[in-house]
Amino acid sequence: MIKAKGIAAFSATTPLAPYSFERRDPKEHDVVIDIKFCGICHSDIHTVRSEWGNPLYPIVPGHEIAGVVRSIGSKVTKYKVGDSVGVGCFVDSCRSCQHCKDDLEQYCLQGFSGTYDSVEQDKKTQTQGGYSNVIVVDENYVLRIPASLQLDKAAPLLCAGITLYSPLMHWKAGPGKKVGIMGLGGLGHMGVKIARALGAEVTVFSHSDKKKDDALKMGAHHFVATQDRSVFKKLAGSFDLLINTISADINMADYFNLLKLDATLVVVGIPDKPLSIHPFPLVMKRRNYSGSLIGSIKETQEMLDFCAQHNITPDIELVTPSQVNEAYERVTKSDVRYRFVIDMAKV
Ligand code: NAP
Ligand code: ZN
Ligand code: ZN
Repeated sequence: MIKAKGIAAFSATTPLAPYSFERRDPKEHDVVIDIKFCGICHSDIHTVRSEWGNPLYPIVPGHEIAGVVRSIGSKVTKYKVGDSVGVGCFVDSCRSCQHCKDDLEQYCLQGFSGTYDSVEQDKKTQTQGGYSNVIVVDENYVLRIPASLQLDKAAPLLCAGITLYSPLMHWKAGPGKKVGIMGLGGLGHMGVKIARALGAEVTVFSHSDKKKDDALKMGAHHFVATQDRSVFKKLAGSFDLLINTISADINMADYFNLLKLDATLVVVGIPDKPLSIHPFPLVMKRRNYSGSLIGSIKETQEMLDFCAQHNITPDIELVTPSQVNEAYERVTKSDVRYRFVIDMAKV
């Protein structure tokens, strides 16, 4: 076994604390990765605080992992020692269902193995994530980080980046399309940068006016502070695509009314409580309400290459492992500019 050290949550209400544990010895197709950086996703916080149900403690969170290959199993062909690599939200899937065969492993019909708070495909070995110094992952679930991306800035692409890239591509954000990004946090700010690079006209919806200058600098064409409720009337019926990254309950009817006929609102934010909706605004203009989950390995690689090509990186704030609890408090107050990334060399 390989000794690992990290930080873990031991209950919903206690701060994360140092934790030593073991990773498996590499199997033939495994890659051993020295983790250099790991992003803090709001999903880590929802999970460790039991906001989505009862997780499997202790949890080493983290699914925005960037590192360097330490060693490889005897049959690994895709990576070699020293390569810059990433790991996202899942580390395996059944590999045989139709969705896995179609490069849609995030929707694996047997259930993928999440990077943490989950089990391997043996359905019993607990997985542990990236707030740690080393991880062992099958080569087919490892991503290549292009040379032009710095590892600290590449980390958030593995969840925040792909979670926005996938729906923007699926619903064809591009020239002539008016796209709205709801919530300017980790996910939202990646959405702005990617939608802009795809050629869409981008509007940010934020619940205060504090992030206006940042949003415009990131490439948004328009910024809307939603405290002023008259904006919903003014912009009614004008959007082709809205992506909801908000981690809290909001009045969905306000946003449905912003869509054109047949247009779509895609939800990616997953609050602790159900979002209530009334069918009227959907019914009245044949509007669509959909959801989207991260992206496949193939699409995540495509996204990393796209970001490298277009020079798209997140705005990050580096923290040490001992600052993670403080960072969590700031994320929950919408005070992250715009992704915390943990320097795992300091664990
Ligand atoms: P984040 O950095 O905390 O950003 C969330 C943003 O939501 C905040 O910055 C804030 O933006 C807005 N917000 C928060 N509280 C609000 C409130 N009470 N009213 C209105 N707006 C509020 O979180 P994140 O890491 O981007 O994640 C966002 C959500 O997506 C989380 O629920 C996470 O679990 C989920 N997620 C889903 C997937 C997926 O595959 N579907 C993947 C990753 C994460 P403003 O200040 O601009 O209003
Ligand atoms: Zn995430
Ligand atoms: Zn499958």
